[in-house]
Amino acid sequence: MPKKRNIETYNNSVNIPVYNSASYYFDDRKQVIEGLHKRELPVGRYGRYNNPTWVYVEKRLSELSKAEDTLIFSSGMAAHFTTFISLLESGDHVIFPAECYRQVRNIFHKILPKFGIIAHEVSIVDPEEFINQVSILSKKHNIKLIHLEMPSSPHMYLIDLCKVKAVLDKKTIVTMDSSFAPPPNFYALDWGVDIAIFSGTKYLSGHGDIIVGVVSGKKYLLEKINWYRDTTGPIPDGQVAYLLNRSLHTLNLRMKDTNEKGLKVATFLQSRSEIKNVLYTGLETHPHFSLGKKYLNGHGGVITFTLDLNEERTGHFVDKLKEPFMASNFGAPQTLIEQSTFFTYYEYSEKELDDIGVSYGTVRLALGFIDDIDVIIADIRKALSSL
Ligand SMILES: *Cc1c(COP(=O)(O)O)cnc(C)c1O
Repeated sequence: MPKKRNIETYNNSVNIPVYNSASYYFDDRKQVIEGLHKRELPVGRYGRYNNPTWVYVEKRLSELSKAEDTLIFSSGMAAHFTTFISLLESGDHVIFPAECYRQVRNIFHKILPKFGIIAHEVSIVDPEEFINQVSILSKKHNIKLIHLEMPSSPHMYLIDLCKVKAVLDKKTIVTMDSSFAPPPNFYALDWGVDIAIFSGTKYLSGHGDIIVGVVSGKKYLLEKINWYRDTTGPIPDGQVAYLLNRSLHTLNLRMKDTNEKGLKVATFLQSRSEIKNVLYTGLETHPHFSLGKKYLNGHGGVITFTLDLNEERTGHFVDKLKEPFMASNFGAPQTLIEQSTFFTYYEYSEKELDDIGVSYGTVRLALGFIDDIDVIIADIRKALSSL
């Protein structure tokens, strides 16, 4: 068995190779000097720092978001946490939305304060009031970073980014969790966001078979984040990077499909008298519909609706559905459904649910691309009729 793999053999496959290696070799001392010391050669050193499969998918993700650079992570949460811990220091002030992803909110509430970071929570329910509060905070404190998320879950709230930018100091770093609306639905970086963060587990990978995070944005910021990734190691393996790359081939097709299905199902739900409220940014009745028109090119496949029922009776409705899986996630091939207060927020008290504006009749439906949408609609119609 030859010890060294001849890299000249077969490097013309149409698909990229999956690299699984803990380390990378050097031919001699000269190559160590050129490759490692001077970084003049594109060679790897160790699997926590380098993997050619990452490099390929990161480049593609940069093209997708029109970003200067991209880094991938072991999960969306690792992407968020590494970004914040890399860019913030003790004494820094940050702003974050009250309606952001539950675990991201936990980072601001429970982890960053341990390191002396002062986090200000502001609600995005009223877009004008959000700008007012950001403006007041920004006059009072030196805001190092503002974290945004849109659309938010489960209400699909949006933020008037241009107005937020206008009231912030130029030096404030703007990060945006855009997991619910990746390109082509929304190009966060086009609107002055410095760093777009994605749970690649959702639409970007789109098959519900990997957990992965993505950070795309300004190079000078990503260099700092890269040092933290190198040091602390929240990395995906080569196979995950490969699968993410594979999924990007169909991203446009999947988003187009999910946008069409989403609007169709949202319109159906709105037509039913049993349903009190449908939250979908593509519907004129969504409180942030006009922001959706400005910032979004499509509204995705996640629809939240509320029934005028208590938690138990809402549960009966969900139990009657035969088609969707009762499961968390979205952007997967299968249609998934979550009864919000019984599932995602089951540990929340009544007061906490009230704070985040989630009622007991709330249900979140995430459409899958392998399902026949008429079958899903018929299933919902039947469950509604049984109420
Ligand atoms: C899923 C999700 C995350 C967390 O991502 P993981 O890949 O599950 O770690 C963060 N933000 C939003 C909006 C999400 O939907």
